[in-house]
Amino acid sequence: MNANSPMMAQYLRIKHQYSDCLLFYQMGDFYELFFDDAVTAAKALGIVLSKRGKRQGQDIPMCGVPVITSDGYLQTLIRKGFRVAVCEQTEDASEAKKRGPKAVVAREVVRVVTPGTLTEDELLDARSHNFLAAVAVVRGDAAVAWTDISVGSLHVTPCSADGVSGQIARISPKELLHAETAESDLLDSISGCKSVLMPLASIHFNSSTAERRLCELFGVQTLDAFGDFSRVELGSLGALLSYLDVTQKGKCPTLLPPVRESIQESIEIDVATRRNLEISRDFSGSRENSLLGAIDYTLTAAGGRLLERRICAPSTILNEIMERQMAVAYFKERNPLRKNIRENLRKLPDINRSLSRLSMNRGGPRDLGALRNGLKTAQTIQKLLRQCFVAFEDNADSSQHLIGVAENETAVYSSAAKLSGCKVLLQELEAALAEELPQLVRDGGFIRRGYNTKLDEECLLRDKGRNQISQLQAEFIKETGIAPLKVKHNNLLGYFIEVPSAQASKLLSPPLSNKYIHRHTVANAKRFATETLASTETRIINAASRTLEIETELFNMFGKMAVEASKDINQIATGLAEIDVATAWAHLADDLSWCQPKLDHSGILDINGGRHPVVERSLRKSTGQEFIANDCRLADLNESPRIRLITGPNMAGKSTYLRQNALIVLLAQAGSFVPAESAHIGLVSQLFSRVGASDELARGRSTFMVEMLETAAILNQAKSNALVILDEIGRGTATYDGLSIAWSTLEHLHDVNRCRALFATHYHELTQLTNRLPRISNANVSVREWKNDIVFLYEVKEGAAERSYGVQVAQLAGMPALAIARAREILDSLETDEHNATGRVSARVDDLPLFASARESPAAPTIAPNSAEAVLQDRLNEINADELSPRDALLLIYELKKMAADKSVTS
Ligand code: ATP
Repeated sequence: MNANSPMMAQYLRIKHQYSDCLLFYQMGDFYELFFDDAVTAAKALGIVLSKRGKRQGQDIPMCGVPVITSDGYLQTLIRKGFRVAVCEQTEDASEAKKRGPKAVVAREVVRVVTPGTLTEDELLDARSHNFLAAVAVVRGDAAVAWTDISVGSLHVTPCSADGVSGQIARISPKELLHAETAESDLLDSISGCKSVLMPLASIHFNSSTAERRLCELFGVQTLDAFGDFSRVELGSLGALLSYLDVTQKGKCPTLLPPVRESIQESIEIDVATRRNLEISRDFSGSRENSLLGAIDYTLTAAGGRLLERRICAPSTILNEIMERQMAVAYFKERNPLRKNIRENLRKLPDINRSLSRLSMNRGGPRDLGALRNGLKTAQTIQKLLRQCFVAFEDNADSSQHLIGVAENETAVYSSAAKLSGCKVLLQELEAALAEELPQLVRDGGFIRRGYNTKLDEECLLRDKGRNQISQLQAEFIKETGIAPLKVKHNNLLGYFIEVPSAQASKLLSPPLSNKYIHRHTVANAKRFATETLASTETRIINAASRTLEIETELFNMFGKMAVEASKDINQIATGLAEIDVATAWAHLADDLSWCQPKLDHSGILDINGGRHPVVERSLRKSTGQEFIANDCRLADLNESPRIRLITGPNMAGKSTYLRQNALIVLLAQAGSFVPAESAHIGLVSQLFSRVGASDELARGRSTFMVEMLETAAILNQAKSNALVILDEIGRGTATYDGLSIAWSTLEHLHDVNRCRALFATHYHELTQLTNRLPRISNANVSVREWKNDIVFLYEVKEGAAERSYGVQVAQLAGMPALAIARAREILDSLETDEHNATGRVSARVDDLPLFASARESPAAPTIAPNSAEAVLQDRLNEINADELSPRDALLLIYELKKMAADKSVTS
């Protein structure tokens, strides 16, 4: 390739149009990358960087990947944040040659692969959505639209500009589009999200163009039937459509009409809370140890995705929650039915994703097979449910108990009803498709014999030809007398006759040389052709290509039928996913003894015997230790307590307790049963948590700054229906600053936010606030002291804790004995100091407001006698001289000498 070669000119022209992508440039069986793309890709993929020709005197770097295995390489590049433009040959080399010997094969970019626009199973995580989102802001109003083109969903939610980051955290898109001209505030709020950010020209967010395009896409005059979308909502939807056009090169997937999700419909959970509660990912980013990972008993990919959606956006609509809960109750009571349904679900393929691939002409015979199997499973499950419904209806009015069950049954009806439809398509697919299906259409052989007469005829001809080949081999052997003669096939020569070189001379001289034409010589063998062999081959090739043509036509016909039935197919997929989640939750509740929570608008939180689902699971897995269940009682708006102040030693289980109550609420409002003996939950509309220490150094925020930002957000936003959990507020700064901040936060929650809250602290001074603030109560996590050691009981009890036991926990953690002894001395000294100022702490409480009075720094601790001396003394006391062997005595002398030397250094 040189600078002026036509192919190079073509490459550079295409690359120029896709300068922000790596260009996969097809050359035969490979996608090649050149110049900087090659250097980048070779490094990212760990493949060999070679070179091909020169340009302007310089070697052109090149690397390549086989077309057939390109998905794996694409996956790696996409995961590493690259975008890839796939440029394919759009004609055969033979066609290009007709335009002249130097004509370049026509190529064009058929698709830009980006993190948010994937459709192939190999590139996707089956149990997670792959969302592409767009955020638009118009004069303070914002909207986020998002789509998963691998299943065809399309959603939009209006929100305030401040609420964008919360929405993005909930949706967790792989790729996020925003206007190039977006304000710095917006960019700042989305910069912390994990999505790949993609700036687009503002024109793509134009609401009028968006409205027109949406109408065209859904074949309607106006969008009224789908909702009354605001300008900013249309703008965000429009940006999605524009981007799909650009990346999919006009092959827009079949999308469902846009659905508006109002922010009031789900619990408001901000970015920090989502991260702190490890809802769908743990701190390291893995699903396995998150809440979702611990409770995922679903068996299908679509069920797994629905579960994730429900857990990430727990509902605030009582009817909706009750319906989900009743479906769980229905299946919990019917063990055999549940088992039977789950057995069927186990084999269910991902029909949403197959349908989407078919609609984008990226599908194959296995996608049709997935539809066939999926629709069949839907029929079987519907039949199973119908049998139970009928059996139940027979006894419907026989007892009060059954009337209760009837409600549960109605909840399952709506999912079961979705499983009807697509009967004709299923019949056709069952009749037409073979059992074993190839991945690609071009591999053929996926239509059953007997389905299409024309196809059967061509298959017969092709197979007959193949039989003829073996007959011909026998004839050739007979004619030549060469027993090892074989008729073989390869892509270069087609069919040929191969004889060992030692016996080939017969065929090279008359009379046989008139018939057997020498074509090729390989080590130890010679290859020949005959006219009969060539004509038989032509017949085989013609019949095979006609067979493939007919199969391709049939494939396209079924693909079209499927796309036309996409509404029904999607409905069936939704019904199956709902049944998967309901049966999974029922199974989970049975397996782990979870209870059905009572939900209402009471404003109460009353949990009996609550457990932390993730800690409980990990304890069981690692040590087999039992999780200690605990209660939590918070009253409605006018009663006490609304806030529980929890004190207790380090490691006693305070954080676990806080989180478990938040997670129980979250699970209940998602529609699940909960890990408790009983639970009464007044619906929560906002969930806030500030737990653990983290910093965002990349964004210029220290640990304490992050803590304060999160606390500020809670105090500014929490309304009376919020549930707030705060762990160790004020720990990241000096003691008195921290205490003051924790104190004022507690008062603010009590007097201003008036919401339900759980507040864990090590500032024991705060426990006295219960004397003054009526809606706060003290609780503590108990431990037992044993021989200067502590035993954790993990029981949450009424009343304040007495001590922190920090030094004992440090000792448990293996801090050096010297440091522990010294810490004890300092602690004693500080406590004596505090004790001498008896009444000071309670005086502070009574002296409110705290901040009005200037405060003194605590006096520097009086340093007690050197601790090394005490350690030395302890060691001497331990020695029983009578029991020492001579060797031990010698070692002891060395040890004591060293301790004495250490002592003199520290004193
Ligand atoms: P610190 O004040 O040091 O942050 P903490 O009081 O918040 O500690 P946690 O982090 O909640 O303590 O709990 C420490 C460990 O104790 C947990 O990782 C878990 O292994 C165990 N634990 C907590 N609660 C329970 C429980 N109810 N039953 C059994 N084990 C528990």
